[in-house]
Amino acid sequence: MAFDKIIGQEPVIENLRKSLAREQVSHAYLIEGLTGTGKRTIARELAMGIVCQHQENKPCHICQSCIKSLHQNHPEIKWIEEDGAVKIERVRELQKEIMMKPYEGRYKVFVLCNVETMTVQAQNALLKTLEEPPPYGVLILLTSNINSLLPTVVSRCQILKLRPVKRDRISDFLETEKEISKEAAKVIAAFSNGIPGKALSLLEDEDFNRRRNTLIAITQELLQKNTISLIEKAQFFVEEKNYTEELLDILTSWYRDLLIYRETQAFQFTMNYDKMKEIEGQSSKIGLKQLRDIILMIDKAKRNLKSNVNYQLNFEVMLLNIQEVLSW
Ligand SMILES: [Zn+2]
Repeated sequence: MAFDKIIGQEPVIENLRKSLAREQVSHAYLIEGLTGTGKRTIARELAMGIVCQHQENKPCHICQSCIKSLHQNHPEIKWIEEDGAVKIERVRELQKEIMMKPYEGRYKVFVLCNVETMTVQAQNALLKTLEEPPPYGVLILLTSNINSLLPTVVSRCQILKLRPVKRDRISDFLETEKEISKEAAKVIAAFSNGIPGKALSLLEDEDFNRRRNTLIAITQELLQKNTISLIEKAQFFVEEKNYTEELLDILTSWYRDLLIYRETQAFQFTMNYDKMKEIEGQSSKIGLKQLRDIILMIDKAKRNLKSNVNYQLNFEVMLLNIQEVLSW
């Protein structure tokens, strides 16, 4: 069952399984979690489980209803996924649709994506349906931020919070399900921030390791006493502008790894798990205070991105400052 494919959300899934088995279906669910934590997968399984015709193990994935759900053509499951914000007009359409009784089975399920984008008016309109749902109506709301919803909306829903997943769980999953090396799995898991979806996209992004290797090579060059062409190095940030945030995260992770290794002499807590030799080498050359200062400089470059600072200059200055700190 696909519920089994969702990693790290066992309490939520266990709960849903039990209530599906007892046929205790709520009128409204609110699934909260960051992008990539599995909101949609859980919503899909939950909707399938609600309309499943089997008595046990809902969703069974083999009954006619489940097959239709799997092919995304079950007439009683509707996904509302707008390009922009979910507008009041769309909520009104939903209200009309939900009043028409299901002609297949006992339930009619609506999944609303990105409900944090709903205007207050749209939420207030939705509230009417949440307060007086038809007996067969089920709403599944998905959001990355519960705080942007009206408390009156939240209080009408059964809340399912998806949490970030432990690094080891993600790395075990990658190793066994995606058949990659333990080393590679650990690195991706470390950079996924506990979000399985992010781990999978990093896995598919063949250039992630190229960018990481280039940055680590730059940190190595910064350490050389001879003057390096900082302009040239800053150019890399310009070329990879679409990944600026990731580049800075990688750079921070690198100096944090050096810091951790200096303090603990252990690799198990490092993110760049596959670069033990380089970590060992660099950490013996850079002091703790230097490392802390460098991390602050990277933070500053990150903050500068939000103001009107010249993009290339920002990175030139950052690299120049790091080099200066390293020359102490
Ligand atoms: Zn079924």
